[in-house]
Amino acid sequence: MAEKEPGFETLAIHAGAQPDPTTGARATPIYQTTSFVFEDVDHAASLFGLQAFGNIYSRIGNPTNAVLEERVAALEGGTAALALASGHAAEFLTFHALLQPGDEFIAARQLYGGSVNQFGNSYKSFGWNVVWADADDPASFERALSPKTKAIFIESIANPGGIIVDIEAIAAVAKKAKVPLIVDNTLATPYLWRPFEHGADIIVHSATKFLGGHGNSIGGLIVDGGTFDWVGNPRYPLLSAPRPEYNGMVLGETFGNFAFAIATRVLGLRDLGPALSPFNAFLILTGIETLGLRMQRHSENALAVAQHLANHPAVAWVSYPGLPGDRYHALAQRYVPRGAGAVMTFGLKGGYAAGVKLVSSLELFSHLANIGDTRSLVIHPASTTHKQLTDEQKVAAGAGPEVVRLSVGIEDKDDLIADLDQALATSA
Ligand code: PLP
Repeated sequence: MAEKEPGFETLAIHAGAQPDPTTGARATPIYQTTSFVFEDVDHAASLFGLQAFGNIYSRIGNPTNAVLEERVAALEGGTAALALASGHAAEFLTFHALLQPGDEFIAARQLYGGSVNQFGNSYKSFGWNVVWADADDPASFERALSPKTKAIFIESIANPGGIIVDIEAIAAVAKKAKVPLIVDNTLATPYLWRPFEHGADIIVHSATKFLGGHGNSIGGLIVDGGTFDWVGNPRYPLLSAPRPEYNGMVLGETFGNFAFAIATRVLGLRDLGPALSPFNAFLILTGIETLGLRMQRHSENALAVAQHLANHPAVAWVSYPGLPGDRYHALAQRYVPRGAGAVMTFGLKGGYAAGVKLVSSLELFSHLANIGDTRSLVIHPASTTHKQLTDEQKVAAGAGPEVVRLSVGIEDKDDLIADLDQALATSA
């Protein structure tokens, strides 16, 4: 009889973890150490030469982080993963492994604002050029292709929430162009959506959000889908050409379907340095144990809040794909049938002033610039994260004066609705 694959909740608790062989500790120990003693000189040489796997120095790998890496790879259905200091570090090291100066990648315009800045401004210093496309229009990715295109980047559920991206349609463009599709799966998490099953080649996460889930640790992950063939492809020299640092080893040939994860570790993390602290890895791992339960509750609460707001007289519109009638509802039913996640936007009839009043009147919702916490969070982008933009830029970024973003937490939903009602009454 074929062995049954463990279910998601089982993997969320057990994947990658064993009782500690020395002490029997059941929770994953925090290996709070910078470095690891070699057995002998030959052992050290084989680790440095990538002939053996093992621990050298915590900037490039740590046993606590390794459990997190194995767990997230299992949850996403990938071959291997790399844990990093932040979601931004995960994006940066992904592109570092793919791009040379002068190269291009195509990204959806509908992204977390920090990624828009990273791609559009910071990457210019490396000679990496982003070409923007429209996540709602897969053909715009095809039109943006050029001989310099090396990758396509999208979010699955796009920040600021409420947008479901048609991954399969954009994956078809990437496959035809023979470039990897990178999906930022932060808002959906693998509980709601597993992008490798829809054509993604690489997944990145800000573990700061729902994976960690408790608003206590910044972290990020790169997950290798093992689907892209780097071997003999001169367009990706970090994976297909002999590496001088490793005596001419070709990473794509030596490491096969987990070569991308290895390249980001031994060329990216080793040389650029954004290591995740093992203490934060431990906190994120602890969060992941309840990921399924939390994502169910986030989605249920968000739907109840969205339904309530849609019927509220002070509210002009609600954008949440779980709502029947929402423009992304059909895509949500196809891609995220278990729920559309925690994040939504809505518009206040009272405009900018009502937005400012609302965030200062809410008591249970915390006014801050994060999402994915157990606690409910709110932000009025026009007066905070997007304040420096012109009015037209604000509207184009989905941050018009009347827009409020919620990350609905896992509290009692009646308390959340009561808090919104009292705050809307003061801001109307
Ligand atoms: N990707 C998405 C979708 C995000 O929402 C964020 C942060 O808000 C990031 C990436 C960046 O992650 P971090 O803040 O962990 O660097």
